Amino acid sequence: MKKLYLGLISVLVLIFGAFMFIRQIQVKKTAPAKPSANSIKLVAAKKAADQYDYERALTLLKGQSSKSATTLRNSINSTKKELVTWNKPDQFRHLFFHSLIVDPQKAFKSKSARGYADYMVTIPEFNKIIDQVYKNNYVLVGLQDIIQTDKDGKKSTVSINNIKLPKGKKPLILSQDDVSYYKYMKGDGFAKDLFIDKNGEIKNHYVDGGKSQVGNYDLIPIIDQFVKKHPDFSYHGSKGTIALTGYNGVLGYRSSISQSSKKDLPATKTAIKKATTVANAIKKDGWTFASHSWGHINMKESPLSDIQKDNTLWMKEVAPIVGKTNIFIDPFGADVGGSEPYSESNAKYKYLSQQGFNIFCNVDASKPSWGQLGDKFYRNARINVDGIRFQSDLDGSDTVLRQFFNTKQVIDQKDRKLVHK
Ligand SMILES: [Zn+2]
Repeated sequence: MKKLYLGLISVLVLIFGAFMFIRQIQVKKTAPAKPSANSIKLVAAKKAADQYDYERALTLLKGQSSKSATTLRNSINSTKKELVTWNKPDQFRHLFFHSLIVDPQKAFKSKSARGYADYMVTIPEFNKIIDQVYKNNYVLVGLQDIIQTDKDGKKSTVSINNIKLPKGKKPLILSQDDVSYYKYMKGDGFAKDLFIDKNGEIKNHYVDGGKSQVGNYDLIPIIDQFVKKHPDFSYHGSKGTIALTGYNGVLGYRSSISQSSKKDLPATKTAIKKATTVANAIKKDGWTFASHSWGHINMKESPLSDIQKDNTLWMKEVAPIVGKTNIFIDPFGADVGGSEPYSESNAKYKYLSQQGFNIFCNVDASKPSWGQLGDKFYRNARINVDGIRFQSDLDGSDTVLRQFFNTKQVIDQKDRKLVHK
């Protein structure tokens, strides 16, 4: 009896063992295969090719002989034969925006309603604009893609790069001003700040009724998501330029030491740290930063001494957070010079040039695009996309926006009517 009992146990153990063995094989079979180095490279090559970086794509495909690698290589080689070169200083169109309105009910009924309606666009308007701009074959290029600074000892000169795009595609520079989430905007239906979420993505905080929400509540995360979905909207991964002042801090962080009381100093130092981490992530994500002056001063009207004081503050309080930049974006679009090329006899230009700026952007919506290349500078004119420009398109006095999108289809007339009530 005991023998039979033992025999039964060993049979059971054997069956169990066999079961576990088979199970293990099955588990092995169904466990997802780790992607090979080549398949990772193939995915990266596909993205690089989508973003017009054909040389990088071909390098990634080197030594790969799979069917998909060969197909991609052939398609790149035939695309490369038909590329159009963009290298004239005046052919780069440039659109710029301010912070986007998250809640029109708040913004258009606030005490700053008129200003918001004139200088800003809502998120639904922006989404429609970007969709149409993309469908009209524009591709985001960075100012740093277009302009190259060549240093020869102390002398630095600028030259224009050859941007190559497939026939029909057109380069477009994008910028956003005053991404500070200024104190005066609090409670008016705008995002509170930019931050890095747990997936490493740039997102906004938006506070509504005391509740903090996370989402794509401004231009940077919206463009990020758009490019994720449509990689071919971005040239080599570039997205745009963010122009920053400093008096209310940057990116929603109150990081200005000079504006901070002694009591607030520890909080200001924490803000600087946080802002630096966010700024680094934003740069890694395809964006560049520009000076928009520290105090949003008028560069045309301000005397040189004020410009010097202001820039010293920017260098002290903003540059350590966002990094040194060679791009200066005029507050109010007010240029330090006229339309003739800058020269050293212009003391304001000379000072800014010595401070390392060699790309200057003003505002001029009278032409589709404007640019000027000197030995030591590149100037580019931007077109403001806002309520004023919408209105001039609707009444036909300036139709410059029509090359990018259809104002009638994007404007949110219903919400904008709130302003007059
Ligand atoms: Zn501004």
